[in-house]
Amino acid sequence: MYIMQKIPMSTPLVEMDGDEMTRILWQMIKDKLILPYVDLYTEYYDLGLIKRDETDDQITIDSAKATLKYGVAVKCATITPNAQRVEEYALKQMWKSPNGTIRAIMDGTVFREPIFIRGINPTVRTWQKPITVARHAYGDVYKDVEFRVPAAGRAEMRYADTQGKETALTIHEFEGAGVVQCLYNLDESIESFAHSCFRYALDKKEDLWFSAKDTISKTYDHHFKDIFAGLYESKYKAAFEKAGIEYFYTLIDDAVARVMRSEGGFIWALKNYDGDVMSDMIATAFGSLAMMTSVLVSPNGQFEYEAAHGTVTRHYYRHREGRETSTNPVATIFAWTGALFKRGELDGNDALCAFARTLEKATLQTIEGGKMTKDLALLFDGEAETLNTEGFMDAVAASLKALQATK
Ligand code: NAP
Ligand code: MG
Repeated sequence: MYIMQKIPMSTPLVEMDGDEMTRILWQMIKDKLILPYVDLYTEYYDLGLIKRDETDDQITIDSAKATLKYGVAVKCATITPNAQRVEEYALKQMWKSPNGTIRAIMDGTVFREPIFIRGINPTVRTWQKPITVARHAYGDVYKDVEFRVPAAGRAEMRYADTQGKETALTIHEFEGAGVVQCLYNLDESIESFAHSCFRYALDKKEDLWFSAKDTISKTYDHHFKDIFAGLYESKYKAAFEKAGIEYFYTLIDDAVARVMRSEGGFIWALKNYDGDVMSDMIATAFGSLAMMTSVLVSPNGQFEYEAAHGTVTRHYYRHREGRETSTNPVATIFAWTGALFKRGELDGNDALCAFARTLEKATLQTIEGGKMTKDLALLFDGEAETLNTEGFMDAVAASLKALQATK
């Protein structure tokens, strides 16, 4: 009998396991789609809530450090504990969001990208390709200081340097009650954000747009614009020209109009608040949350891949009761293929890269051929056969087997 040689790996992939329904998907993806073809070499970190609690969350920190060491990670969705979870899992404390912890250690930027499928058409008719949103996840209104002005008086903003020299600016002479808000950001954080964006654009070979409101915010937003422009000119321009891609800055109003008229196929970098709002709009207009991937990119070019959705708790509770589920694994499959491809690229492992692309193709072909989970069947243009979680995974496995056989 002919036994297929499994694809070897030379460097470990950092594997971050997670919680609930996505943990179930995780195991199925490995068993049915990856392990039959790849001699999978991972450094495994269990970020499931039980293990995080057991290790006082040290496991999360270790997994992020391993990502800095090896350069590529794949992460399953994890529970961010709230009061109800503290009770449900009898936690020692309300541990912080693993994504927040990992992002802080990697100093990274999150890029959210929809998976494009024929038959599931975006709300915006002109969009032919995915639009990736990059959100600067530090500072601004998320770390602001706010004050309710009770009555007439002067509001000032003061800054004292380390020698104690003060500068004071009048914000407003209030004649009655009102509100005040002060925002800040750091050059270091904005620079990291810009580096991550430039690197990711080069990685994807897609244009990079950055937009803010510099015409109104002449110091604050203008500074973001200047940092991007400075780094582009000094560090990235030549590489962009060589890759045949473009960086440009435009006012956010103009960007919104251009995005709506575009074909897609670019990366849109946004300040913290703009990114928060626009990423939800883009995700919704592209279809389903279950078709959105997310990549955390550090300023030095380390990558962590995951699905943008959560642990799909409602489906997990059904599953635990022994009832049937139809949970969409596509974003989690693409987190794996993204990570395997990147690992292959860094290691010069062409077979691994080719396998990752084949698995993506098998997944898309399965859906385009009319077999899908319930969430997609509702959006699909055409005849759709709704499968349960395992049934869909088996259908992808069959497509993959057929594609591998033609090699
Ligand atoms: P969620 O897990 O994304 O699920 C919200 C709803 O969206 C689901 O109930 C389901 O709708 C639909 N959905 C999401 N992913 C789906 C999929 N793959 N297939 C089919 N339907 C899908 O968000 P959540 O319920 O707000 O959060 C659950 C847990 O996830 C929380 O503990 C939260 O902390 C965590 N979370 C983790 C991450 C992360 O690790 N990156 C991100 C977000 C949330 P129906 O029930 O209507 O079918
Ligand atoms: Mg939001």
